[in-house]
Amino acid sequence: LLRVEGVWKHYHRHSVLRGIDLEVRPHEVVCLIGASGSGKSTLLRCVNMLETIDDGSIFLDGREITDPDVDEDEVRRRIGIVFQAFNLFPHMTVLDNITLAPRKVHKVGRAQAEEHARDLLARFGLADKAGAYPDRLSGGQQQRVAIIRALATQPRLMLLDEVTSALDPALVKEVLGIVRELKEGEMTMILATHEMSFAREIADTVCFLDGGVLRERGTAEQIFTDPRDPRTRDFLRSVL
Ligand code: ATP
Ligand code: MG
Repeated sequence: LLRVEGVWKHYHRHSVLRGIDLEVRPHEVVCLIGASGSGKSTLLRCVNMLETIDDGSIFLDGREITDPDVDEDEVRRRIGIVFQAFNLFPHMTVLDNITLAPRKVHKVGRAQAEEHARDLLARFGLADKAGAYPDRLSGGQQQRVAIIRALATQPRLMLLDEVTSALDPALVKEVLGIVRELKEGEMTMILATHEMSFAREIADTVCFLDGGVLRERGTAEQIFTDPRDPRTRDFLRSVL
């Protein structure tokens, strides 16, 4: 579904991604782990074309999205992204936050967009919050709305960047619950996370990034029980 080939990204003279190769199959859940600054967020932002890459190519469904002729907005519609800080529009209700992109970008009619939004809210236990403004929601609820908003354009791929790290431990659970549901719904996802126990539970594949290099990739089982690369071992020893 997604193929990242030899991707390099520099900021000034500092190389943040150094030749990343990554393949993601349909319905696969990939977790990116690695120390702070290792390039996880940058990689997700490159996949979503929020950053231009300096070398390499990225393919979505066999089509090169890093081709300069490709319509970036169309690509972003097919890739949902959710960040650590939830970034809901504060002056809009939950329903308007969710229907904005489908209506403005996808040109879906209001009634249809709202019906789909209400279905998603019901599915994730937020049916009664449709008319609420974000400041009336808990952090966990806001983050769930942010995830629903990303789902509203029916993306092929979801990118989740540390979606729990701005939350109190009690609220982390609700958000992880929604990610579990997405996996059950066979959504293809790439998650950057510092929650190792969650990565171990949810990931089909775990990728360890170290200084912009993808050092090791394997099943969650293999990476967490039998890491081959000494740097992966050191990292896991320091965080587990
Ligand atoms: P964390 O776990 O803390 O979220 P990360 O693995 O997501 O870290 P990135 O945010 O991808 O790491 O950052 C990788 C490197 O790129 C860091 O050294 C960071 O300082 C640098 N960097 C990121 N964004 C920019 C930017 N816009 N301009 C310059 N340098 C940047
Ligand atoms: Mg990050």
